[in-house]
Amino acid sequence: MQAKINVGTTGYDRWKSDQFRRLQLKKYAIYLAVFHYFMTALHAKLLTNEQTYLNTKSSLIKTSMAKTVYTFGDGKAEGNASMRNLLGGKGANLAEMNLLGMPVPPGFTITTEVCNEYTQYGRDKVVADIKPEVEKAIASVEALTGNKFDDPTNPLLVSVRSGARASMPGMMDTVLNLGMNDATVATMAEKSGNPRFAWDSYRRFVQMYGDVVLGMKPKNKTDIDPFEEIMDKVKEEKGVKFDNELEVEDLQELVKRFKAAVKEYTGKDFPDSAWEQLWGGICAVFDSWMNERAILYRRMNQIPEEWGTAVNVQAMVYGNMGDNSATGVAFSRDAATGENLFNGEYLINAQGEDVVAGIRTPQQITVEGSRRWAALQGITEEERAAKYPSLEETMPALAAELIDTAHRLEDYYKDMQDMEFTIQDGKLWMLQTRNGKRTGAAMVKIAMDLLRAGEIDEKTALLRIEPQKLDELLHPVFDKEALKKAKVVAKGLPASPGAATGQIVFQADDAEAWSEQGKKVVLVRIETSPEDLRGMAVAQGILTMRGGMTSHAAVVARGMGKCCVSGAGEIVVDYKAKTVTMDGKVYNEGDWISLNGSTGDVYDGEVRTTEPELDGDFGEVMELSNKYAKTLVRTNADTPRDATQARRFGAQGIGLCRTEHMFFEGDRIKAVREMILSSDLEGRRVALAKLLPMQRGDFEGIFEAMDGFGVTVRLLDPPLHEFVPHTEAAQKEMADEMGISAEEVKAKVESLEEFNPMLGHRGCRLGITFPEITEMQARAIIEAAINCKRKGIEVHPEIMVPLVGTLKELQHQANIINITAAKVFDEQGETVDYKVGTMIEVPRAALTANQIAEVADFFSFGTNDLTQMTFGYSRDDAPKFLKHYKEVGILKVDPFEVLDQEGVGQLVRMGVEKGRATKPELKVGICGEHGGEPSSVKFCANLGMNYVSCSPFRVPIARVAAAQAAIEA
Ligand code: ADP
Ligand code: MG
Ligand code: MG
Repeated sequence: MQAKINVGTTGYDRWKSDQFRRLQLKKYAIYLAVFHYFMTALHAKLLTNEQTYLNTKSSLIKTSMAKTVYTFGDGKAEGNASMRNLLGGKGANLAEMNLLGMPVPPGFTITTEVCNEYTQYGRDKVVADIKPEVEKAIASVEALTGNKFDDPTNPLLVSVRSGARASMPGMMDTVLNLGMNDATVATMAEKSGNPRFAWDSYRRFVQMYGDVVLGMKPKNKTDIDPFEEIMDKVKEEKGVKFDNELEVEDLQELVKRFKAAVKEYTGKDFPDSAWEQLWGGICAVFDSWMNERAILYRRMNQIPEEWGTAVNVQAMVYGNMGDNSATGVAFSRDAATGENLFNGEYLINAQGEDVVAGIRTPQQITVEGSRRWAALQGITEEERAAKYPSLEETMPALAAELIDTAHRLEDYYKDMQDMEFTIQDGKLWMLQTRNGKRTGAAMVKIAMDLLRAGEIDEKTALLRIEPQKLDELLHPVFDKEALKKAKVVAKGLPASPGAATGQIVFQADDAEAWSEQGKKVVLVRIETSPEDLRGMAVAQGILTMRGGMTSHAAVVARGMGKCCVSGAGEIVVDYKAKTVTMDGKVYNEGDWISLNGSTGDVYDGEVRTTEPELDGDFGEVMELSNKYAKTLVRTNADTPRDATQARRFGAQGIGLCRTEHMFFEGDRIKAVREMILSSDLEGRRVALAKLLPMQRGDFEGIFEAMDGFGVTVRLLDPPLHEFVPHTEAAQKEMADEMGISAEEVKAKVESLEEFNPMLGHRGCRLGITFPEITEMQARAIIEAAINCKRKGIEVHPEIMVPLVGTLKELQHQANIINITAAKVFDEQGETVDYKVGTMIEVPRAALTANQIAEVADFFSFGTNDLTQMTFGYSRDDAPKFLKHYKEVGILKVDPFEVLDQEGVGQLVRMGVEKGRATKPELKVGICGEHGGEPSSVKFCANLGMNYVSCSPFRVPIARVAAAQAAIEA
């Protein structure tokens, strides 16, 4: 058994009882193989059946649809920013920007309710239902633009855009320039006097429509987008590199070949009718809600499927009309650092996604941003000004208008805005605004800056903190000394801060596979796409060759709080050879590199990291949390080192100290084994006497670190089998040590095997069968407390009995503890205050909490075991089916991560209420994994628990969650 234990787990539950399992597995291996074969064969069928079953059930609840379409345009809107649940974030904010008098192309939003109807009843019914309202809304757009939909002589073109309640960047699909056909393209060419623009729009439309609506976008990333392939071919034939170098004839050729590809793929001609196109587009957005990428993104971000997406249909404005047109994205503050600095990127003569797609190098909006960018890229000021001028230089008036709009939006929303805009022939149009995604560091800084500026109050500032995201701020940064010696081999853009060090992989799949093997990887890509999401999630960091600060990789990485360096132009990535060449050196898959996401530097090899700084804005957030929180946050810590770490993070005591974790350090395991393997009480006492001073020393260290805060020590919990030697060699060694035969040791080890160790001889059952163990542990705790008291350290030991299910169990153990304490007091001529309490982790304990509280001074809910026993899921075995359960929607989240408030939570509530009915002053806390998960922390806080306890790195998260619970209550 390994001596290293993950601080993030409670109890022994997560340690694998390897030997036992191996034994069982061998027995059932053949059975399993056969079983697995049939299951795999049946799986597809079962999956569909289950899904149908779940859907049929939910479709019994019918919702009646009210108004389905909300229009906006020309300073008026039927919706507003508060209607994001119904209109999605994009639709609600498009409406609001209209009401704020900003330039927004007119359009309308089809509600998220329609999406749910669509998922349930399908296309035909929904189209029939909403058709009259959609036709009316198109007419209103026609009236505002003076163009006509489906009219080749004066065409109205629209975009069809998805827009869910929570932003899901790049996850769902958008079609631009919808309404085009051979006749409209001719009209547009003529009317604009710019045939290139008309044909560029047309080829984009056919491509997007083919990809999104006709399903030609490759499902698999090894497949090539048929349109990209044609595009590359035409560019090659023409001998150009960028699509803006293509001329009218080339674009016409592209459209011709695109359409031929459509015909080949679908067997049908590309649809000419604007209405047919529109319904195709609308339905494709609804379909995209259920595409694999979107489902995965929702799962990762815990977005419920029922939210649905809205569809926005909006009159087109054109950023591709020539050099007086552009498209871009902008942020009112820096999304990576939180710095109060407007920034953004744009591309001249481009449309839609060109900026984020990393097709051409985007330019910066502000001069300052542009200079910073050039410095990072190693580009001279002359070259920058000539080749990559900022919008402030190329279109100063428009840049000023954009910056002013950004300020107005930020003032209105009182939060950092992420905006999309297009400039059509010298006029600015706003296409989107939303509260921008940001890193954990930016989140903290922006909230505190807005608070200091008086824009928001303390409570709002605290509510702006996503507790989970604080995690990013707690992890190591590069060691300054190590960094000085490190060799920079490439430079890119500081797309998402943090320090990452790992082995190079080139494919997202490999990133997943390697990290499953416990390897640290850095994902190196030419550029990323939404298909790479899983790989990005498991990588330490991401390095891309192409793409700006707003590229897919950058935006997603910031959202994940993952270190990312993007657009490292000089590196050469070769997917086939699995190499990346940096600074003349060829790096292979598996080689180590390090990334600094805050500077954009890429280092050779593994660079040492150190602890982060925890003062400044972060410290202020923590102080504010303490001001509002009514629930204390303790930590689960087993060693003086963990306890010290947790104190740094602001832990207010220890909620769970697992004594057995101390048993693995150094030579101790031998004494532990001796105790277990002894055949009689005398032998056990000899071994326990060896353990006593070690445990006492540890407790002293922990009490010292906690300096006056309460410390809950749990008595021995895991089954003894966990501790004994399993290999022959180790058994022999132990036998020699104890002067008995190896056979005796082996027999004893075998006698300790259990069928269900989780439900076996563990917890207080050990202390009851071997009272001398409880006695030794109680003595170690009390003696340590007295020693500390003599040193002037304030101590509040709380002795916790695990796995109690009946009052009598607790009584039995409490007696031993109290008798032992009295003895020690007597011997020492000194006393300390101590408490005796219990874990509530067996359902029966919750059900009889009123009785148990008669003896207990405190309860601590052990929600890991409680979840396990309430669901009847073995925590070690559950991952196998939980994944499937989540896929078919039986469970939304893993109940071992997020407390099941409906079920397990009822037992917790009952336990608290019954316990306090007997003993109103009963101290109550939680020490399961859930004690650091924000929604669970809030649940516990609302139940009036005195504290939650979690692993050290989650302490700050729990502190903010506790404050939020108090504010929201
Ligand atoms: P996403 O949610 O993936 O950003 P969007 O619906 O915002 O998708 O649109 C994708 C791109 O197309 C964005 O750059 C957006 O600004 C642009 N776009 C959307 N609608 C229009 C329009 N009516 N006119 C011009 N550009 C548009
Ligand atoms: Mg957008
Ligand atoms: Mg337990």
